[in-house]
Amino acid sequence: MKERMVYLNGEIVPYEKATVPLLNTSFRYGAMVFEGLRAYWIPQSGTLNIFRLKEHAARLLESIKLMRFEETYTSEQIERAVIDYLAALKPAQDVHIRQMVFLDSEEFYYARGPLQMAAVAVPMGRRRGFEKGINCNISSWRRISDQSIPPRIKCAGNYQNSRLAHIESIESGYDYPLIMNDRGKVSEGAGSAVMLVRHGALVTPPATADILESITRATLLELARDRLGLSVEVREVDRTELLLAEEVFLCGTAEEVVPVVGVDRVRIGAGVPGPITCQLQEELLAAARGNEQHYADWRTQVTF
Ligand code: PMP
Repeated sequence: MKERMVYLNGEIVPYEKATVPLLNTSFRYGAMVFEGLRAYWIPQSGTLNIFRLKEHAARLLESIKLMRFEETYTSEQIERAVIDYLAALKPAQDVHIRQMVFLDSEEFYYARGPLQMAAVAVPMGRRRGFEKGINCNISSWRRISDQSIPPRIKCAGNYQNSRLAHIESIESGYDYPLIMNDRGKVSEGAGSAVMLVRHGALVTPPATADILESITRATLLELARDRLGLSVEVREVDRTELLLAEEVFLCGTAEEVVPVVGVDRVRIGAGVPGPITCQLQEELLAAARGNEQHYADWRTQVTF
């Protein structure tokens, strides 16, 4: 992998050369929209599978629209940027790609363009807690709301809410926060969706629970139904349901599936990663790596 080469407006340049001026509007106000994607390295065939590239491009376009940025990029341009970047970078390992769209402006916060696009890939294997699980707290912070700073937009500024909750969690001796929305229902984690297994069904809060519409969440709902034959409930979730659940886990592009073994020091299930959580970890990685031909349309292959 060519170290520290990044994508900026159609070119692959050294990281040090891709700089943003101090008065840049997006930097000043957190007005930058982005995606986090994963690409899985398949050593046997020398291919890299970008996972759910189309869905990430579609969500980036939704963020651009809701941010009232100028709608100048097409889905094809957004997808092509990631493909061309990885083809040039040639990483022979699993990577995480951050694709960003931000203003090329030093105007006030209501500037809407022109836009620029950047992408940066870093090596990323399984995240901490993937095997043994993590301990979560219920944050004292409330999730930002669709009525003020919509969590549906994947915007840099939204992560101030995650930051406050995550620091509080670590300082209180936990690994990671679960955040309730302003109606007191379960929303999501600081940077991941949350799912639970209750009475054998897979349960997750709806798109209207002040969440980011997670692509991994949609992927797992499909895998749970189609591959594991589970019944799936997308509905409001109470805080106490987390404590009574047989299993709880986080999901997201970076996390994939991370088991939660305790919430507010209450043991979840047997206090170890549950069987459905582990099966979903396997199903997700199989779909992403293409061990079987299932879900080929979820994978965009880059060969080098
Ligand atoms: N919620 C938040 C707040 C996130 O930052 C992320 C990570 N992008 C997720 C959920 C998971 O989304 P996805 O599965 O699309 O990565």
